[in-house]
Amino acid sequence: MTDPRRATPDHPAGAVPGGYDGTPAHPDIGLRIGMGYDLHRLEPLAPHGAGRPLVLAGVPIEHDRGPVAHSDGDALYHAITDALLGALAQHDIGALFPDDDPRHESADSAIFLDEAVRRVHEAGWRVVNADCVVVLERPRIGPHRGDMRRNIAARLMTPAERIGVKGKTHERVDAVGEGRAVETHAVVLLARAGAHHA
Ligand code: MG
Repeated sequence: MTDPRRATPDHPAGAVPGGYDGTPAHPDIGLRIGMGYDLHRLEPLAPHGAGRPLVLAGVPIEHDRGPVAHSDGDALYHAITDALLGALAQHDIGALFPDDDPRHESADSAIFLDEAVRRVHEAGWRVVNADCVVVLERPRIGPHRGDMRRNIAARLMTPAERIGVKGKTHERVDAVGEGRAVETHAVVLLARAGAHHA
């Protein structure tokens, strides 16, 4: 078997420990993992501030504050979109959908997520599962968890039983804890279409 750390023109033997020529150190097992993160500032709703109505995973959430955003500011869809693109090692959401593009003004962020899923399928992958965290001081997202999981599941074309959504507070510290921002995290697992892992 080829030594994956053998010398390369850029890394002569002995010059750089671990000089690598691109040979995979492990066979492709037909799985990819991706992570995504997002944060949006929360401001009072118009006309008192620049906040848009709060929506997470397509679910409107009653609150006196909302995200400042070019699109609809759905921070959870944004994090999942980036997790999918990350699993594909493609550009992130900001590169695909620049926030200075007038076409995305007030855009439904489901459009971004659907495009990421389309790219996943186009590249020959399918979503196995996803797990998400929403860090929001208030309101609690518990009552909306079911709707959020169902929305995400439908867009990722996977059963809601495979979609985790967890709500956390930021213990009243820092911007998120003071209610001035919402933070989201997502991880996704992709498998080669049609592949079955024992
Ligand atoms: Mg965002």
